[in-house]
Amino acid sequence: MEIIPIGTGDAFAKTLFQTNFLVRPADGGPFLVDFGHTAARALARLGFPLRDVGRVVVSHLHADHIGGLEELGFGGYFGWGERPQLFVPENLVPWLWDHALSAGMGQRLTRADGGFFQAGLSTYFELEPVSAGRPFDLGSVRLTPFPTPHVPGRPCWGYRLEDRATGGIAVLTCDSRFHPRSLQKWAADAAVVFHDCQLASDGNHIHATLDELLTLDDRWQERILLVHYADDWPGWQGRTGRMRFARQGEPVRV
Ligand SMILES: [Zn+2]
Ligand SMILES: [Zn+2]
Repeated sequence: MEIIPIGTGDAFAKTLFQTNFLVRPADGGPFLVDFGHTAARALARLGFPLRDVGRVVVSHLHADHIGGLEELGFGGYFGWGERPQLFVPENLVPWLWDHALSAGMGQRLTRADGGFFQAGLSTYFELEPVSAGRPFDLGSVRLTPFPTPHVPGRPCWGYRLEDRATGGIAVLTCDSRFHPRSLQKWAADAAVVFHDCQLASDGNHIHATLDELLTLDDRWQERILLVHYADDWPGWQGRTGRMRFARQGEPVRV
């Protein structure tokens, strides 16, 4: 499979798009993991049309991960007449519409017969709930959602991706505090781990910091590609041990 971080920035980045991924299975159509409010622009930069986004996998409900869904859903409904599939961990489902998307999308719409109806999530998307630790397949890629510690009291999910056509395994931590036990459980056999990284150790501690990631041994560091980093990342080059910065738009083949 090919994994393209369409952005590598954190939620506050201005020179980078946000950390969302375009995945091309060895066999089968592409899908997105997360769709933040810079996702449509990031895809446009890559020449990938928004209408070709048929499937989105969601990690959690911060705007840098779901903030683009309104544009995608409206585009599909009012534009090209398709409902993208949304793969959403089941404990996020009640929140996704009621507390995030309904404010902008829960409008009254006109039916073909001239009557009205109230739009809901299923008006715009085909919802596919997914469960912790239970794999599901998108083309040749088998995805397994696993819980990550991010913001206390707010669920967040990472994904293990295994392409059954090539045997390639990658892990996306999405947003996570430092949690070596989880890495050991889900990423021990992964060729690549895309790990979110807070470069400076001050501020809110809801992501793994660079200092924490540097405590991992070389066996781990060599496989880690840093994502979800701040605009000042060039100043941190050469200070990341054996870990490398993933670059937005650059495919990684696994
Ligand atoms: Zn987050
Ligand atoms: Zn984030």
